[in-house]
Amino acid sequence: MNQFLSRRTFILIPTMSILKIIFKPMQVLASSFASKEEWNFTKEEWKTRLSPESYYILREEGTERAFSSQLNNEKRKGIFHCAGCDLPLFSSDKKFDSGTGWPSFWDSIQGSVETKVDFKLIVPRTEYHCSRCGGHQGHVFNDGPLPTGKRYCNNGLALRFVPV
Ligand SMILES: [Zn+2]
Repeated sequence: MNQFLSRRTFILIPTMSILKIIFKPMQVLASSFASKEEWNFTKEEWKTRLSPESYYILREEGTERAFSSQLNNEKRKGIFHCAGCDLPLFSSDKKFDSGTGWPSFWDSIQGSVETKVDFKLIVPRTEYHCSRCGGHQGHVFNDGPLPTGKRYCNNGLALRFVPV
């Protein structure tokens, strides 16, 4: 009997671990919400304010197709604003060509973005969003250029470029 139980336990524990790995990525973490109350719109209100494509990125944490944004090749001097609330997020002097097909920056404007870990892919990634309206912008990785070593991989549809 003891032998049977221990054998069952032996099988059960790895099974549970595998199930945990499979189901963890499916957990939906807190969806994008605003830190500033005046930007706390309902889903319907956001839908009227944004294009369907930008709504998908900003409010449903979607990702645009690589190389689909004109902002990927934007080389002029200027500021990249949040497409949801117009908060300035990135400056062109911190933009670099990462070769990934998404606008990439090695630093954000101080205080403009906040991060959280997402488990949409099995490997946890650090998602970042606008600190004012909570709109999802992209993911930040640790393989960027110096001086920060960061790579903010941003959806072009979540940004509005203002040349200076
Ligand atoms: Zn915003």
